[in-house]
Amino acid sequence: MIIIIFVLVLWYGGLFFQSFFLHRYAAHQVFTMSKTMERVSFVLTWFFQGSSYLSAYGYGIMHRMHHAYTDTEKDPHSPSHDANLFAMMWRTKQYVSRY
Ligand SMILES: [Zn+2]
Repeated sequence: MIIIIFVLVLWYGGLFFQSFFLHRYAAHQVFTMSKTMERVSFVLTWFFQGSSYLSAYGYGIMHRMHHAYTDTEKDPHSPSHDANLFAMMWRTKQYVSRY
């Protein structure tokens, strides 16, 4: 039972910090926060997302490109211009790795 609770906490914690910190704060700058809260959010995002963590800076740039160039060849995360899911994820990783 403790394993299920652990997985659920990590899963929903990762979703929350993806939406709250990476998407709304880093990519869209919907709100501001102090440097201390920014650092706390950074560490918690890293903790909850584990191996799937993307840098907030890289995520922000990639995501804004995704909105600006949706489903064109400049979109770093679109299934329209890659042979399959793995090719799309690899190309996305290449974008994020630059930052
Ligand atoms: Zn967005």
